[in-house]
Amino acid sequence: MAKPAPALAASGGVALTTLAGVGPAVAEKLAARGIATLQDLWLHLPRQYEDRTRIAPIRSLQPGVAVQVEGTVEAVERGFRYRPMLRVAIGDDSQGTLVLRFFHFRSQQVNQFRVGARVRAYGTPRPGQHGLEIVHPSYRVLGDADDAGLGDALDPVYPAIEGIGPITLRRLIAQALRQLPGDDALELLPEAWLRDRGLPSLREALLTMHAPPRDADVGALLAGTHPAQRRLALEELLAHHLSLRRQRIAMQSHGAPALGGESLAGKLRKALPFALTKAQQRVYAEIRADLARSSPMLRLVQGDVGSGKTVVAAMAALLAVGSGRQAALMAPTELLAEQHLANLRGWLEPLGVRVGWLAGKVTGKARGAALAEVADGAMQVVVGTHALMQEGVVFRDLALAIVDEQHRFGVHQRLALRDKGAAEGIVPHQLVMTATPIPRTLAMAAYADLDVSAIDELPPGRTPVQTVVLSAERRPELIERIRAACAEGRQAYWVCTIIDESDEVVAQAAQTTHEQLSAALPELRVGFVHGRMKANEKQATMRAFKQGEIDLLVATTVIEVGVDVPNASLMIVENAERLGLAQLHQLRGRVGRGSAASSCVLLYQSPLSQTARQRLETMRATNDGFVIAEKDLELRGPGELLGTRQTGLADFRIADLARDADLLPEVHRIGDALLRDLPGVADELVARWIGGAARYAAA
Ligand code: ADP
Ligand code: MG
Repeated sequence: MAKPAPALAASGGVALTTLAGVGPAVAEKLAARGIATLQDLWLHLPRQYEDRTRIAPIRSLQPGVAVQVEGTVEAVERGFRYRPMLRVAIGDDSQGTLVLRFFHFRSQQVNQFRVGARVRAYGTPRPGQHGLEIVHPSYRVLGDADDAGLGDALDPVYPAIEGIGPITLRRLIAQALRQLPGDDALELLPEAWLRDRGLPSLREALLTMHAPPRDADVGALLAGTHPAQRRLALEELLAHHLSLRRQRIAMQSHGAPALGGESLAGKLRKALPFALTKAQQRVYAEIRADLARSSPMLRLVQGDVGSGKTVVAAMAALLAVGSGRQAALMAPTELLAEQHLANLRGWLEPLGVRVGWLAGKVTGKARGAALAEVADGAMQVVVGTHALMQEGVVFRDLALAIVDEQHRFGVHQRLALRDKGAAEGIVPHQLVMTATPIPRTLAMAAYADLDVSAIDELPPGRTPVQTVVLSAERRPELIERIRAACAEGRQAYWVCTIIDESDEVVAQAAQTTHEQLSAALPELRVGFVHGRMKANEKQATMRAFKQGEIDLLVATTVIEVGVDVPNASLMIVENAERLGLAQLHQLRGRVGRGSAASSCVLLYQSPLSQTARQRLETMRATNDGFVIAEKDLELRGPGELLGTRQTGLADFRIADLARDADLLPEVHRIGDALLRDLPGVADELVARWIGGAARYAAA
């Protein structure tokens, strides 16, 4: 664990029980929201602001626009029709009247509202029975001598914390902010940098966020584009970047076996029935150069579906085997692992390389035997699922750990596999492969600890899939299209999607579609697969489709992963407007895998939302997974793209990678300069923002 920075030990790192009004019970409720120190309270930023710095003439009120008003009580009516009710009419110099309406109140409250009393209230007016009214305003009755001056800052409204009332929370945060140290103790970034970039100091940024001056640009504050927020985001991104860079540095301080035995890889290359694409050659060369070094490779290979990552991984594995060592390939599902096993066996066993298998379902004697072979090195390449990382799996000398489909594994798992090969300061090289391209900006943030290669070219001879977007009313035409394709000996998918419904509802809807299509196309063999089928039934159906015994496969989105049927050349996706870009792209990747021209029809239900329209247009316009990923980031935001499991990136407190992506190049520049020139400051930044969570730092 990183040691706390001195400035924090003195202030921000202080436990909350030192605040007035925070006993163990409150502390526990705060802790449940991850708030444990003063600093956590400083960073609990408002989600809204209320402007009580001015008083609006009652006549000027607009329904739906929150304001503060001040007036004299003109009438009070306490009623009980269906439930207790209190109506207080107030008027002001503008000759306007406003009703304050209460459904819950104490008699003490009723007594406060004497006719003639002055009341200041804040709330959102809505049309009522007699003009505008505010239901349950926040208010105070002003005393005679009490002219209650207006504040000069907006009032913060904080994200709620269960069990702590908004007023208490506001008081706690105000109290915490009073202990905010001066710039000399708090500020970590060089002043000149901030000045050059027009950014406020940390102290000023925090104070602005919690109590913006009355003329502040509230729109910008709420949108997260205000300089105060940019400043906080910059520092947070910087801390993350530094933490990843330090992990990388720590990792590279270990040694790794230099893998130079190239003859096997060369043999495979000659034996392949195809030539590597330029992109594959380039990426392989990058990997080979990394592996030849005696410091560990940390490389991510991004490549679209079908770009040919597996063969590159196989060649990398052969570099390990050719140097007398072992390689492991880990996939997130058994199905994918099986596919890899079949591929690697097909390529490697003719070269005399032993490829073994280790998955969860390998148990008992078979497992014992497999483990023994892994341990004595007889198994030169081991393919499997996360079972590879379990205790009891001991390699003789694992030199290369390959992880496929990185987005399904967390960093922890990646490190766990690496640890399988760690011995005396030597760690295996790591190769991570993903078929879900991540936009460059995101990759910069997510993988600052990795080098990134891209296989940005598909093998030749593939005709790009033609995509058309049609209204669901055109569904009948598609029947003819399917008939025509199948008459030519091709196969087709019909994908039913209903999001936000249970599997069962989806299965039923797909069932109906299956029946309709079977009736409309009596001459075709129509199959059906859905998520509620047993795994073996599903596989039997998939196998039948693969072997050409089914012409048209009606399916739910279960076919997304792991299906490879080159003869299928037509895909129809119903309710395509409900799917995200990544999912649509993965689905479409099921066609266009053979030499025939393929098409994908995206059917939508009107009316289309703005973003749905943009998604479908993106799908129509491009087949490029990288372009689609960029668009996806723009439309969805990074949290959804990466998921929390991946890197903890979705855990940013302030920063938002979609919104703040433009800060990243700057973050990298500043970060590298800090590591070089002010490593102590870098430590403090990481401690401040990530602290004990620098969980991989022991790397
Ligand atoms: P992915 O990158 O999606 O994992 P695969 O490695 O499964 O892609 O490759 C997809 C298909 O393309 C496989 O059948 C593979 O053998 C084939 N392939 C890979 N590289 C080439 C190439 N350079 N030329 C032709 N076919 C290739
Ligand atoms: Mg693959």
